[in-house]
Amino acid sequence: MIYLDYAAHAPADPAVLERFCDMERRFPANPNSVHAAGKAAREEMARVTEQIAALTGASPAEVIFTSGATEANNLAIKGIAQASRHIGKHIISTPLEHSSVNGSLTALQERGWEIDLLSIGRDGTVDPEEVHELLRSDTVLVAICAVDSELGTIQPVNEIAALLADHPNCRLHVDATQAIGRIPVDFAGIDTLSFAPHKFGGICGSGVLLKRSRMPLEPQMNGGASTTLYRSGTPALSLAASSALALQLACDERENRCAVVQRHSEKLRRALAAYPAVHINSPEHAVPHILNLSIKNVKGTVFQRALSEKGVCISVKSACSADGLPSRAVFAVSRDRRNALSSWRISLSHLTTDAEIDEFLSVFDACYHELVK
Ligand code: PLP
Repeated sequence: MIYLDYAAHAPADPAVLERFCDMERRFPANPNSVHAAGKAAREEMARVTEQIAALTGASPAEVIFTSGATEANNLAIKGIAQASRHIGKHIISTPLEHSSVNGSLTALQERGWEIDLLSIGRDGTVDPEEVHELLRSDTVLVAICAVDSELGTIQPVNEIAALLADHPNCRLHVDATQAIGRIPVDFAGIDTLSFAPHKFGGICGSGVLLKRSRMPLEPQMNGGASTTLYRSGTPALSLAASSALALQLACDERENRCAVVQRHSEKLRRALAAYPAVHINSPEHAVPHILNLSIKNVKGTVFQRALSEKGVCISVKSACSADGLPSRAVFAVSRDRRNALSSWRISLSHLTTDAEIDEFLSVFDACYHELVK
């Protein structure tokens, strides 16, 4: 099997898995418990939280552990909107967001919030000037991804953060799920930032939300005291510890890992662009980990099935939005519905080998000649 769907989930790093098992063995207690075993788990939880805070430019009190980026996005977006409903109900976002962001926004819209989506340029990015134009006195949130999951475009988050510095009632939520380990990520100037360690060598079921302290946020789950006020339930120490190690490795190794991925991406771009029916949707300046393409007149789902039958795993849109509809993100950059319906995504890792790229290209060639008439 050739796995080229690392943006959906990446395998846990062996050292991270080992850390998870070690923590399970050493701390078999609830960190909320007041007895000695609980105290030991709580102290370890504090150490792990400090490690994540130091790697992201947050303070330990600003780290909230969740079950993944979906939960982190829901908590941030709904939590901010509900906590600031007395100020206003206007939110700005983009058509490039993951379904957990879109879904949270749609749920709010159904309950009376007004959502404006920024336009996307041909290069896949938003224009901070448009954020400025859309801002109103009742705008309470701008929600944007640092890197989008379908095209891999890098958004001007720092420029938007700078612009919002003059609007204290408007919060900035950044979904950094596809950014960590790909580009430098810093919490400075941002109110909430979500990510999911299982995308970069952590364990599935782990997520993090950084939340600026003293910023009001309405919890989305009730009951069960926790180490933070905002996410109840027994803190998952082993997941948190494995997340901290995965994040450490992703930050330390970022440049080396990106260099490997860049080489694979360049080879793929060159080889695929030689096919007349192929259109590469990911802009040149996108992160090299994500390569989105369309094959003229062949639905993305049809090409995906053909590749899958030959042992190659890729995604149509993202794994969480496999609904058969045209990709909103690809439509936003190409303005072409058929192109959006034909699109699919290859996502690479430093674990991808030269042999896998060669094998993928040979399977691609066979599928292309079967399906392109
Ligand atoms: N945000 C982005 C940009 C993503 O790519 C994903 C997953 O693909 C998510 C959020 C959801 O992450 P999780 O699977 O951890 O809930």
